[in-house]
Amino acid sequence: MDRRALNETRALLSKADAVYRPYSCPASAECCRLKDTGRQPWLWPSEWALLMEHLKREGRTLPPKRDDGACPFLVGERCGVYGARPFGCRTYFCHRAAGPKRQPLEETNALLERFAALHAEGGEPKALLDWYDGDGSSSAAPSSGASRHLLPGEKE
Ligand code: SF4
Repeated sequence: MDRRALNETRALLSKADAVYRPYSCPASAECCRLKDTGRQPWLWPSEWALLMEHLKREGRTLPPKRDDGACPFLVGERCGVYGARPFGCRTYFCHRAAGPKRQPLEETNALLERFAALHAEGGEPKALLDWYDGDGSSSAAPSSGASRHLLPGEKE
């Protein structure tokens, strides 16, 4: 993954943070319990590359999958890769979100379109545990549309 793509990905993630700044959540980490929710964040290749770079910079390796089916990056009730967490985690919107009533779907979809443009020459988003497996298959959670974190424009 080239530097330009990584920088653009960082910029898109920062924009997502800005769009969702007016909202807050109780930080229960409920949405990180992937097996319980039946959903996973989907990551573009550049997001996965950024995550791997983050771990490397911190001298860490990929944590093992968890027996309870929660996200392997969850540490206690906190995200262990918060600064590099995927777009799907930053834009996850559940009924417990507090703030403006309307989810900023147009803005989030616009950012997703920029992710797609960034990967126009190749690369598709994959569920987190599929990236983990590296072969596009995951038995821990299905990767159908119904299983993932909601993408902008989708409803529960
Ligand atoms: S990457 Fe972080 S925020 Fe996203 S599901 Fe995993 S622990 Fe939760």
